[in-house]
Amino acid sequence: MGPCALIDFAALRHNLQQARNAAPHSRVIAVIKADAYGHGMLRAARALASADAFAVARVEEGVMLRRAGVETPLLVLGGFFDFAELRSAAEYRLQLAIHRIGQLERLEQARMPQPVECWLKIDSGMHRLGFPITMATDVFRRLEKCRAVASPVRLMTHLANADDLEDSSSLRQLESFLPLAGELGAEISIANSAGTLGWPDARGDWIRPGIMLYGSSPFLNGRAKDHELKPVMTLQSRLMAVNHYPKGAPVGYGGTWHCPEAMPVGVVAIGYGDGYPRHAPTGTPVLVNGRRAPLVGRVSMDMIGVDLRSQPQAQVGDPVVLWGRGLPAEEIAEAADTISYQLFCGIGSRVTFVEQDN
Ligand SMILES: *Cc1c(COP(=O)(O)O)cnc(C)c1O
Repeated sequence: MGPCALIDFAALRHNLQQARNAAPHSRVIAVIKADAYGHGMLRAARALASADAFAVARVEEGVMLRRAGVETPLLVLGGFFDFAELRSAAEYRLQLAIHRIGQLERLEQARMPQPVECWLKIDSGMHRLGFPITMATDVFRRLEKCRAVASPVRLMTHLANADDLEDSSSLRQLESFLPLAGELGAEISIANSAGTLGWPDARGDWIRPGIMLYGSSPFLNGRAKDHELKPVMTLQSRLMAVNHYPKGAPVGYGGTWHCPEAMPVGVVAIGYGDGYPRHAPTGTPVLVNGRRAPLVGRVSMDMIGVDLRSQPQAQVGDPVVLWGRGLPAEEIAEAADTISYQLFCGIGSRVTFVEQDN
């Protein structure tokens, strides 16, 4: 069998509990968009059934969850595009983030059998989605009056730099958002994982953790164990060849790496066709039989090379971990100049998922 992604349900539940411990007075909207960051949306919804709500990015993700029988409150972070999506949201009881005037106008024009729950999304400084603070009171009142909108209307915003604890722009965002929330007397949601763990004033009524549930640190250069998070996905494959080459032999496409001495080079059945990052450089660690060995040469579509000098006894079929238990995804992401979010989301359809519940 080729590569597997082992998904640890107990770790998911543990990480949800860590989010609750970090924000004991907040309710939890577990973010399971993008196929639960590549872990499988329905699988994650099952393991995280005790969350107070789930969040997805798009209406179709919410519809998919409802059709699969998920009854938990569901928030669509991107809101809706058109009347058809608005009708689906009402039909499937999806909560909507309302972030632009066109959505408000459609809600005001809509004649719907049942109202939808709405979150007014405020741009407190990220400048991605949301109404400026100056418009917030007016839009909030219009939403409250709207027959298509169920009460209560809630408020949300998103922090742009919460992953950097040295960056004061999170404090400036909070300073502009929190007084507004006080004036309107609405329930609020601000914090993603980094906000939940790193910015106490961002916790509010509802937290929106994503990456921490999957057992990865949300912070720059952070590690899961700093926050007692457990990795959920372990990406695993096997050695498919062990070759012996002389000193100076080039290895892989472009011959970018040469054996510094006569040595064994392992070939692992994993590549960018499975979601392993093509930019992982020589030296990126993998675990062969539970012990670290460095990747050598370029990542191919289906294979990578590893330096087996530290494990001359390694054989074809031996297990290799690419990230997960014993090898933080954060470390691989840093080596490949990306973030663990992207590694998880990029897992290819060729990878077999195996659910575990220890
Ligand atoms: C994806 C997302 C989150 C979760 O972010 P993490 O960094 O994964 O915790 C929270 N809020 C919004 C609006 C998002 O888009």
